[in-house]
Amino acid sequence: MVPVFWFVWSQTTSNGFCESLEQTVSTDPVAGQARTAPGDNPESPKTAAPSCGESPEASGPSSKQLETLSLALTHHLQVIQCNAFAIPEMQGKEDFRTYVPRDVGVGLYPVHGLLNHSCDPDLDLCFHGNTMVGRAVKGVAKGSEICVDYGVLYFTQPREVRQTTLRTQYYFDCMCPACMNDWPLWQDIECTVPTFRCGGCRGALPRVSALGGQLPTHIECSCGHETPIMRNLSELNASHQRYAIAMQLRPNSDNSAIVRTLIEHLRTMDRFIAPPWRDYVSCQSSIKQSFRLLGSWHHVLGEIPPPE
Ligand SMILES: [Zn+2]
Ligand SMILES: [Zn+2]
Repeated sequence: MVPVFWFVWSQTTSNGFCESLEQTVSTDPVAGQARTAPGDNPESPKTAAPSCGESPEASGPSSKQLETLSLALTHHLQVIQCNAFAIPEMQGKEDFRTYVPRDVGVGLYPVHGLLNHSCDPDLDLCFHGNTMVGRAVKGVAKGSEICVDYGVLYFTQPREVRQTTLRTQYYFDCMCPACMNDWPLWQDIECTVPTFRCGGCRGALPRVSALGGQLPTHIECSCGHETPIMRNLSELNASHQRYAIAMQLRPNSDNSAIVRTLIEHLRTMDRFIAPPWRDYVSCQSSIKQSFRLLGSWHHVLGEIPPPE
């Protein structure tokens, strides 16, 4: 998806992205016409504005045109406030694992702008130049809503902070599962025994601690299905070992092969474990990093600026 409008504010030497500090306008897929930059159009407000001492009625826009223009400007300022996407590129030195996203522009994407927020998003967005690409970073059930994050994630910020940010900037109260169940921050997420999923209804099974602490071979769900916990745990451990090897090879091996192994591990965890689970978040983060490095990036030659 390319934006209908974007603005680049930094000059970089990335792999073919930002060329200069400039305003750039793309073909509008809605109107099907190429938009022109302000001033290029002889009928644009910039060239049609009256000169000093000249009567607006004689050569300038009519009051009706000014009203239309002011309404359009107000509308777009409001749209940008709530619907524009920051356009980042990955920046760092040599070791790609340490690259971090830095915003280099902002764009309006009419389709992606329809996506709602979740503090546990389904999609990760990365940018190839100004083309936005969304990739799933967890299992998405058929027919369920696909969400992105509006800059806050459940495992990095407490619920109160996320809610305040979202209410202040986007004017809504987040009702995502992470907020409704007050999922913990990453360092507080359970990492000894996961909450298993029912193999029948896919719901969360009772925690092992609630069953007396002993790991049973099977757990029976309220739906009547019996899930073979020990068998699933054995499959999880095998998958985790492949994941650990892939993480050691990264980034000195074929990135696509490593990403496939990470995605396979994520799928295995999706099948057997109900969130939140620390290993799941770590695997997701590595996958996001690999996805983003498929997009725009550039080496920083001087000092890396502090986090924004
Ligand atoms: Zn939320
Ligand atoms: Zn069940």
